[in-house]
Amino acid sequence: MKNISILGVTGSIGTQALDIIRNKENKVNLIGVTAHRNFKGLVDIIEEFSPKYIGITDKKCYEAIKEYCERENKQVNLFGGEEALEKVATLKEIDTVLTSVVGIAGLKPTIKAIEAKKNIALANKETLVVAGDIVMAKAKENGVKILPVDSEHGAIFQCIQGNEKKDINKIILTASGGPFRGKTRDDLKEITPKEALKHPKWNMGRKISIDSSTLVNKGLEVIEAHFLFGVSYDEIEVIVHPQSIVHSMVEYKDGSIIAQLGSTDMRLPIQYALSYPDRRTAIADKLDFKTVSSLTFEQPDINTFRCLELAFKAGKLGGNMPAIYNGANEIAVELFLDARIKYLQIEEIIEDAMNKFPHVKNPDLQQVLDIDKQVREYVLKRYV
Ligand code: NDP
Ligand code: MG
Repeated sequence: MKNISILGVTGSIGTQALDIIRNKENKVNLIGVTAHRNFKGLVDIIEEFSPKYIGITDKKCYEAIKEYCERENKQVNLFGGEEALEKVATLKEIDTVLTSVVGIAGLKPTIKAIEAKKNIALANKETLVVAGDIVMAKAKENGVKILPVDSEHGAIFQCIQGNEKKDINKIILTASGGPFRGKTRDDLKEITPKEALKHPKWNMGRKISIDSSTLVNKGLEVIEAHFLFGVSYDEIEVIVHPQSIVHSMVEYKDGSIIAQLGSTDMRLPIQYALSYPDRRTAIADKLDFKTVSSLTFEQPDINTFRCLELAFKAGKLGGNMPAIYNGANEIAVELFLDARIKYLQIEEIIEDAMNKFPHVKNPDLQQVLDIDKQVREYVLKRYV
């Protein structure tokens, strides 16, 4: 039995993880959860799962849940504010934390969870992007596992089982290409949030949907792969695979390529991260090759979607540069979703921030958090 906390239980990944818990065969016990603003979603989860510990980061939502629990006589331990994440991530009763909050908000609780020797099922890729060196070193020091939930990294994780790292030639990250594959820069000028939120293959949270459309998501995943698997950026290749069936591949030095395939359903990598090293009966639909007409692969259009190259650049520079890239993107996506900037300005803002802020080689955690704050302040001042 695994006893877990889910940070960001009301989100796309969080609610899909609940499907794994619903099926008792998966042997996952839900002890703690956190949510931010989704009162109704959290109430439904409390009613169905009765988690013993609940953290709510948004003040208004916290007050509303507190009132609800008192009225309904719920025997729960409630935590409010930013520390709520850390409290739920470090509970004595748990052995694993699923980090499925969005953005840099996941960083501090993930580090606290690692220090408390909890294994991490990591969906929150931003944590590794902004502080990969720190997080991976902490994981090693504390002997905890970082199990990838991101579908590509979950795939790579499976492809490397039983092989030696020294034999890896390269990692091939597949990308769906997003909703605007094939479009020109001219086409992208007037893109609206509604259009960008409509992903052709995956149904995800708002921020990652925009990231997928700009290829920032793939950029973040390149950096995530670098830290998770200890490969250099020259050993990571991105290839567009619009069907999203091959979730990623590893090429070995003898030229053999091992791929992981499966249906387009995040419950598959979530389930594996929560059952590893065991495998459990499928929850996601199984892939039926009779319905797969073709698998195609093409080069990403890096001239139209420049954020991918910018991520490689940030990753290669390392130090605080991935945090600058990420912070600029997070705030730019918020501004775009609020219709305060144009679509192509997301890329402009990332590039501007990367040029504006000085490169620091080995930032500590506080420096990472500070640079993130400074980048956001700069972008807000300059662009709105
Ligand atoms: P969602 O936006 O659907 O969910 C985010 C969750 O985090 C919600 O529970 C939300 O609470 C909570 N949250 C939002 N802001 C804050 C904050 N400031 N502090 C604390 N909690 C907060 O996101 P996704 O589930 O799509 O993504 C989660 C993470 O997983 C991201 O890092 C993403 O990149 C990664 N990921 C997602 C995939 C997907 O298919 N969705 C695939 C691969 C990776 P509330 O709803 O209550 O406001
Ligand atoms: Mg992914």
